[in-house]
Amino acid sequence: MSAFSVFFTQSPSFLAHQTAMAVAKGSSNAQTLFGIQSIPTDNHIRKMLDVVPPQQVYPMFYKIFTQLNELGHLNSFRAVNHQLLIALDGTQYHSSNKIHCDNCSVKEHRNGTTSYSHTVVTPVIVAPGHSCVLPLAPEFITPQDGHQKQDCETAAAKRWIDQHAERYRAHQITLLGDDLYSRQPLCEHTIAAGLNFIFICKPSSHDTLYQYLHEQGKSSPVMQTLTIERRKGKRRTIDTYRFASQLPIRDGDDALMVNWCELITTEPDGKVIYHNSFISNHAINADNVVDIVLAGRTRWKVENENNNILKTKGYHLSHNYGHGKQHLSTLLASLNLLAFLFHTIHDMMDIKYQLIRAKLPSRKTFFQHIQALTCYHCFDSFDALLEFMMHGLEIDPLDTG
Ligand SMILES: [Zn+2]
Repeated sequence: MSAFSVFFTQSPSFLAHQTAMAVAKGSSNAQTLFGIQSIPTDNHIRKMLDVVPPQQVYPMFYKIFTQLNELGHLNSFRAVNHQLLIALDGTQYHSSNKIHCDNCSVKEHRNGTTSYSHTVVTPVIVAPGHSCVLPLAPEFITPQDGHQKQDCETAAAKRWIDQHAERYRAHQITLLGDDLYSRQPLCEHTIAAGLNFIFICKPSSHDTLYQYLHEQGKSSPVMQTLTIERRKGKRRTIDTYRFASQLPIRDGDDALMVNWCELITTEPDGKVIYHNSFISNHAINADNVVDIVLAGRTRWKVENENNNILKTKGYHLSHNYGHGKQHLSTLLASLNLLAFLFHTIHDMMDIKYQLIRAKLPSRKTFFQHIQALTCYHCFDSFDALLEFMMHGLEIDPLDTG
């Protein structure tokens, strides 16, 4: 809880201030808000947590998912074919020539230097048009027992599927991923696990599929087209969807057959302003191609609404909070993800949090205020802290409806 409190308050000095407050006032926000009876030093925390694998905190992700489902909050995330979309993306959060641990990925360079890094695959529930994203338990890219080769993103994605398919399968899951994911082994792995996929499929990495598509297109009406004109004020754009069924993902007799679609958005003069293509195991037809593409495009949210926020909006995922020799780096990154999930839950369900966030100009300001307030006053609970902020900001409690 001490480590978590730092991420939840987004204040690296939270514990130092609370230690001082406990001495001066006899109690502190560490105790009242987080139930920490005696505040450990940073060194003590690092030493204690280094031996704890990040998987120890994953049950909290599972518990939150289950509760959100039971309360009906996942329904608003349902997309095409009533699916829950889980976008996967790898993001590097540590790179150093010196600082390293047993779980670092190691790269020997030609000039004799060595670099150490950590990358994490962050699965996130996303939905077109939904303002929130819900992070799930991550999977770290880290040297695996019994494997000589360095671990990689698709191997980590497969492990995530192995560990989580059973838990999520019944919820009707479609995985989203970039072009790296649209290869036969991972697609087969996804289907075998009872999950679905919509992955980006670039022509440069799918020679056979595109050859087949173009050859077939000439001789038979296998490729279908749907054109939709859109108007926004005076601006007119044309969305051209093309789709085809049962194309080989790669060369060879054992090639997996997949369904393909693309969207090209053009201006009236023909200028292309968007072009992307996807493959899926979902049947694609004129009735659902727009929603399939929309779902596939929602993948960007894992980068922008999750990984980018974790790196640039106060979570400082790439900051070295302590690396340790074993698990500290991956455990702290997991606690940081968990803090982001807790904030998202507040954002979705806590009317006071919503009203205060709406009143203040930014996420940053909100947490700056929490940091300052918790230095000066010991609040009985997080709710009491929010009440105090509402009062100070003259937010009418009646707005809480
Ligand atoms: Zn490391």
